[in-house]
Amino acid sequence: MAKYIFVTGGVTSSLGKGIISASLAKLLQSRGFRVTIQKFDPYINVDPGTLNPYEHGECYVTDDGAETDLDLGHYERFLNIPTSQLNNVTTGRIYQTVINKEREGAYLGKTVQVVPHITDEIKRRMLLLGNEGKYDIVITEIGGTVGDIESLPFIEAVRQIQWELPDEDCVVVHLTLIPYLKAAKELKTKPTQHSVKMLSETGVHPDIIVCRSEQPLSMELRRKIALFCNVKTEAVIEAMDASTIYEVPVLMLKEKLDVICLRKLNVEIFPGVDLTRWNDFLTKLKNPKVKVNIGLIGKYVELQDAYKSILESFIHAGAMNEVKVQIVNVHSEFITEENVAEKLGELDGLLVAPGFGSRGIEGKIAAIKYARENGLPFFGICLGMQMAVVEFARNVLGLKDANSTEMAPETTHPVIDLMETQKTITAKGGTMRLGAYPCEIKEGSLAYTIYGTKFISERHRHRWEFNNRFIKQYEQAGMIPSGKNPESGLVEIMEIPSHPYFIGVQYHPELKSTVERPAPLFVHFVKAAKDFYEKRNAIKSPLLQSELI
Ligand code: GLN
Repeated sequence: MAKYIFVTGGVTSSLGKGIISASLAKLLQSRGFRVTIQKFDPYINVDPGTLNPYEHGECYVTDDGAETDLDLGHYERFLNIPTSQLNNVTTGRIYQTVINKEREGAYLGKTVQVVPHITDEIKRRMLLLGNEGKYDIVITEIGGTVGDIESLPFIEAVRQIQWELPDEDCVVVHLTLIPYLKAAKELKTKPTQHSVKMLSETGVHPDIIVCRSEQPLSMELRRKIALFCNVKTEAVIEAMDASTIYEVPVLMLKEKLDVICLRKLNVEIFPGVDLTRWNDFLTKLKNPKVKVNIGLIGKYVELQDAYKSILESFIHAGAMNEVKVQIVNVHSEFITEENVAEKLGELDGLLVAPGFGSRGIEGKIAAIKYARENGLPFFGICLGMQMAVVEFARNVLGLKDANSTEMAPETTHPVIDLMETQKTITAKGGTMRLGAYPCEIKEGSLAYTIYGTKFISERHRHRWEFNNRFIKQYEQAGMIPSGKNPESGLVEIMEIPSHPYFIGVQYHPELKSTVERPAPLFVHFVKAAKDFYEKRNAIKSPLLQSELI
């Protein structure tokens, strides 16, 4: 039987429930427990796959092809184990199941209601992973903020589970904010008191209160929160702003968040948390030897959550190389042939991001041309790879109107075309080519050097693909497919062997990068950027000396 930890949030959104959940899970995992985390989101979309990144940030894709909340990315990056479609549930998914059952006649004769039918389905989902026998502890993060109308059924489900299970099988952790009022020079506890009161009114009382704060919490303040929120003083946990999210498990260890949870769960606490690998990573992360500038070209660069996994992958790969990766955001809509050299001139590497639709693609193409012609390390992901293919067609193969049929359905040179399997699909939700697929790598290629193996599996999220009709032209002109799906022949990797470092992939390697297992494509790309930086500076120095003479 698994034990359950529920994590709720109060006062405001964006307090970092996902990071607190992942950090707690990491500590429990480091003590030898088998842990997973799941997220319950209160919105009505069945999954976030149809949401714009402006609304919801990145859509994270699991091995089994679920389009999920970006917090699942944090869970995987911290725990180094995959999640699945069971780890993310929305209100939409719950209602869909209940309504489908109603249509099938499962409730014949009965009025279908929020309580008990919706709450029963929520409870079933909440306990599902724990019933598999694979985990000792299941952490459930409840999206939204306590007090929101839409999260009420989730909280009610938590209340019922607490009532149904033995006391020692559940813990509720409530994350709140303790604001600092500059004028009064004081930390304020009232919003936390109100938020705990609101949660208690729904019948759920927190066992632990984690307080996000910009200032340390004094013992006096902890006692005050404990007294008015009716928890033990040691169960008031300080969560100060950290310099990196990867520091949070260490901070939570100091605050004994894991120990207090385990005590409530009545689990024997073995001494010793093994965070050796984690701490090695942190040491490298904090002591870089060089800094490189990597341009991130995309149309959502003003919203960092849109590229969450890419940014985190650079942090993992940077630490591995002992390099600080400075991301330079370049909005693809504002890059032109005329200003490209000025915009990209100081970069040591160029990453062209995934995306959908035509906005900003001409800027992406101009940036890729610049990288190809100037020996600048290039890495294209999904749409980034597709645009590298289009750029090559236009400027090397001389096919001036070459394009993806996503952008120009009438092009006479559709070098990127809709996949055959997509042609009959009309519904948008969950219908892309999603999840993990195998890829066979050509020996002797850059991709082979990067992965060091012939067979890999990476995650996908796309509808268009390289059009194999043009393959000969590409190979003859020096852009080669170095990775293909072994069954369908779909091109997964394109590279230019004559270029110092030019690679584009149809899949999303950023979705599998973790602290303990950084994605090889990012590790090698950062290394290439470092080489580029060092070569450039080696050239610069003699020039400076000659200037002196
Ligand atoms: N829009 C492109 C496609 O669907 C690329 C998708 C992506 O970058 N994730 O094929």
